[in-house]
Amino acid sequence: MSSRWFPCLSSPPPHLLLLVRQQSLVSASIPELLSFSSSTNQNLPRLSTSTLVPPSNDVNVYITTWSVVFQLFKLGPVESVCITVDSETSSKKEKSYSRGITIRFRTEDESKAFHCAFEQWKNEVIGGSAGECLENGSLLTSRSKFDNKIEAASAKMYFHYYGQLLHQQNMLQDYVRTGTYCAAVIENRADFIGRVVVDVGAGSGILSLFAAQAGAKHVYAVEASEMAEYARRLIAGNPSLAQRITVVKGKVEEVELPEKADILISEPMGTLLVNERMLESYVIARDRFLVPKGKMFPTMGRIHMAPFSDEYLYVEVANKALFWQQHNYYGVDLTPLYGPAFQGYFSQPVVDAFDPRLLVAPATFHTIDFTSIKEEDLYEIDIPLSFIASVGTRVHGLACWFDVLFNGSTVQRWLTTAPGAPTTHWYQLRCVLSQPMYVMAGQEITGRLHMVAHNAQSYTMYLTMSAKMWGAGAEQGGILQTSSCKLDLKEPYYRMSQPQAYAWSQDQQPHQLVHAQDIPIQSQDVVGPGLTPPSQNSAAPLNR
Ligand code: SAH
Repeated sequence: MSSRWFPCLSSPPPHLLLLVRQQSLVSASIPELLSFSSSTNQNLPRLSTSTLVPPSNDVNVYITTWSVVFQLFKLGPVESVCITVDSETSSKKEKSYSRGITIRFRTEDESKAFHCAFEQWKNEVIGGSAGECLENGSLLTSRSKFDNKIEAASAKMYFHYYGQLLHQQNMLQDYVRTGTYCAAVIENRADFIGRVVVDVGAGSGILSLFAAQAGAKHVYAVEASEMAEYARRLIAGNPSLAQRITVVKGKVEEVELPEKADILISEPMGTLLVNERMLESYVIARDRFLVPKGKMFPTMGRIHMAPFSDEYLYVEVANKALFWQQHNYYGVDLTPLYGPAFQGYFSQPVVDAFDPRLLVAPATFHTIDFTSIKEEDLYEIDIPLSFIASVGTRVHGLACWFDVLFNGSTVQRWLTTAPGAPTTHWYQLRCVLSQPMYVMAGQEITGRLHMVAHNAQSYTMYLTMSAKMWGAGAEQGGILQTSSCKLDLKEPYYRMSQPQAYAWSQDQQPHQLVHAQDIPIQSQDVVGPGLTPPSQNSAAPLNR
């Protein structure tokens, strides 16, 4: 692999980024890079060596080949260094060399623009796979943390989904969700005024626009899907805010930003809070971009759980497998597959809105503090369960929902997805036991919800519930009955008659229906942000 130092570039045109692609010299000025990055054209403009300007003291440029790792670090407000790593394979050993390019800018704005252009180039041209520097500075993996733990096929489908406006619209039309975010930001403008904000997974850019409305000094809207392009357009169409927002296309695990954030804003919640495993990206963004003691909106989340009784739901799920009870289906006996089909239906968590009166005990909750949790702690979530039944009934499983807190300096605001509260596009989630349990009023129900993350951006759920000995002999603490099930959070059963949720598998494409409620309402009907009433028309639901 060939590499060499090259004399350099400085004035005019200043601030050229030199790159070599398959050993041919390439350069682009910042405006060229910016315009280049918005297209998918991979051919950077070429510059022959003869057109290079003479060496200067200001800038040293290291030219190298495509296989190196590029990292750009800020040395100061107007000075950066570009680190490249080259490796040389001798017969037995492989050696790595790091080299640096010092780049000095005329102004801070120019420095910022260059960093953004560089990141966009890195992500769009080489797919964000330029690698990371390890702590010892040696290097270097060509795969990001995201790529290492998530199956490429899952990620591709995931970002394809979010790249479509119709799915962003569905989230925007969850007025409970979007209204609560808006209120949490605007009511806490003191946390945003003059601050640097990073929007983690910006989607359409709506939260970035809220942050800019609240007076943010600058917002970096990081979005990995093709939606980044639409976000740019939406933001450009709001010129009073646009000058304070920069859209950065790429994964938060991979992009570099020119400055640290005072506050992160994000909507990383999936079904049961953790589905999609985007909380991990939120935490990685915290570790990469947030200043110490910086704020996070939302700040923490809680998963709530309670046993429920719902005979109708149980029968509905059990009956789905009855098809496989046929002995003569076009002359074929289907019954050998009845057992697996039955188990299959009970491995699907049910997503719908249910009446809170179906709960048979007060709920418990598990807290996830986004400001302090380690990313790895989200790989496995183990929740011990303990309830006291309020009524004697048959328990059909565990009902779950979540809420998140925006711990603003002025106002603390909760976004809740609880049963009985205004319905959101997340609804609630129920794990149905194939073997229901009988409990008496006052009887203790214990158990465990153990969730293990998998590489398809979701979790396998292991639920065990036990009815403890009750009445005489209870003090011995024996178990009367235990029921367990294994569920895949990625394969929920959406039980609503409304537009269906995130298309995790290709045969589950959501149907878009037009609702009367989607027609703009009259101003006198409008309720303030976060205060939309719980009617069915509050959201065009799309679970995540
Ligand atoms: N903030 C928007 C969109 C929320 S949906 C809103 O509130 O309306 C989550 C968004 O995060 C999606 O657009 C998805 O593409 C993006 N996303 C998920 N993981 C990401 C990651 N690791 N890096 C960058 N963007 C990500």
